[in-house]
Amino acid sequence: MAAATPSVESAGNRARSSAALDFLKAGPKKLLIGGKWVAAKSGKTFETLNPATEEVLGLVGEGDKADVDEAVKAARKAFEEGQWSKIGPHQRARYLFKIADLIEQHADELAELETLDNGKAKTQALAIDVAGAAETFRYYGGWCSKIYGETNPSDPSMFNYTLREPVGVCGQIIPWNFPLLMASWKLGPALACGNTVILKPAEQTPITALRLGELILEAELPDGVVNIITGFGPGAGSSISEHPDIDKVAFTGSAEVGKIILKASAGNLKRVSLELGGKSPNIIFPDADLEQAVPGSMMGVFFNSGQVCCAGTRIFVQKEVYEKFNEQLTKFSAGMTMGDGLDPKTMMGPLVSKEQFDKVKGYLELGKKEGARVTVGGEAGSGKGYFVKPTVFADVNNNMRIAREEIFGPVAATIPFKDENDAVLQGNDTTYGLAAAVWTRDVGRAHKVARALKAGTVWVNCYNMLDPISPFGGYKQSGFGRELGRHALELYTNIKSVYVKL
Ligand code: NAP
Ligand code: MG
Repeated sequence: MAAATPSVESAGNRARSSAALDFLKAGPKKLLIGGKWVAAKSGKTFETLNPATEEVLGLVGEGDKADVDEAVKAARKAFEEGQWSKIGPHQRARYLFKIADLIEQHADELAELETLDNGKAKTQALAIDVAGAAETFRYYGGWCSKIYGETNPSDPSMFNYTLREPVGVCGQIIPWNFPLLMASWKLGPALACGNTVILKPAEQTPITALRLGELILEAELPDGVVNIITGFGPGAGSSISEHPDIDKVAFTGSAEVGKIILKASAGNLKRVSLELGGKSPNIIFPDADLEQAVPGSMMGVFFNSGQVCCAGTRIFVQKEVYEKFNEQLTKFSAGMTMGDGLDPKTMMGPLVSKEQFDKVKGYLELGKKEGARVTVGGEAGSGKGYFVKPTVFADVNNNMRIAREEIFGPVAATIPFKDENDAVLQGNDTTYGLAAAVWTRDVGRAHKVARALKAGTVWVNCYNMLDPISPFGGYKQSGFGRELGRHALELYTNIKSVYVKL
């Protein structure tokens, strides 16, 4: 593969943080296995790009089955020897707090690396991705000492209690939309419970996970507790999901790959948790405060260029306020500043890759063909970079493909509805069930609709609120298992029941 150095120079020249530049210039990135950085056994590397400029940021090791095998051996050894699973909870907590502190100390550098690799606005990377990653590690650090078993009222001749034990070696496969944050959602609870991990970042955005790997070594976690294998889905990813000595796989990404992973897990019946896509309904009643609902709904769909699994892409608006809402949404959306994520004025960066860019452009054409009305956007940006303008399709029918399929780009569909019942019926008429929102000043209606919506998260008069304290996950084909909150501990522990004859 072509040497990336000249482009790294120019990509790096855009970087404002010298630390980010140093990391990118340090040469091809390696895999983290057993506490050491090693080249992929095949010697292969692949390029990662800056989607705002299409320049190569750097070369990254292309791990495959042979490397996953090594990583599993290292993770198994670390797990069985107990230098992580059997240390005291306060000690394990200190490691997680240290990782959180290191993320904060390197916040600017990490945000810049995230922006360069993924395209997102740096202001948002700093405030949401990096801050959220630190908070997630800190939150799960707090759990280390609070993972309790129970004593049970068994027969008086017996003493019965339960132990919560780590599952073992965990494979974690993550997507490109929130690379560092997704790594923290996966690593935080797995590590808190005493597991060891093989993490596979997305091929489009491996950079911050690798920098996090360095910080994890700086925090002096024992060798083999966290292994990072960069590479492709078929290869690195499939070797994880098929591996006979991996006890659990956690996956975030497309429903299509989620199904492949679930099938692959049957080999050794490893546990699986899946956080897949969505086509989330965002319901606006006429009594909603439009001053809040319009910008809230706009960011609900355009945040992170629409590359958000819980994006509120189907905006249902009651007929009485449909035109007014559309007008205001169109006006606000036209005012969104799109540009290079490093520019502090940027509200929306490019899409992550050429593939995603082509896919989203395809949906823009499809929406027009299906008869939806473009009120703003509807086309790509000009010049270099994978930019697509914030787009609103009005007069959408819930049966159109643009209302049924996950687009994963800055494309909103507004759909009129008659009454509360109609809103709930249409809102639930989807194969997905990740999130939903309702905007109304009527407290009773808000709670009633929140109950009626089949989604893992429901927001009332807000959108995209996430906090490590609260569970996140899907109904229906949005997956199963709950990440975040104490519920994630269920994913990463086994329960053992012990009977003692008295
Ligand atoms: P994807 O293929 O599902 O990628 C997610 C992760 O799975 C990546 O690390 C990927 O590796 C890995 N992977 C791919 N094939 C695999 C396999 N056979 N076995 C094991 N792991 C595998 O998602 P994508 O192709 O990047 O994006 C496609 C669509 O998925 C998007 O347009 C969007 O609709 C949806 N998506 C959803 C989320 C979410 O948060 N729920 C996130 C991203 C994308 P590679 O990086 O090498 O492909
Ligand atoms: Mg990239």
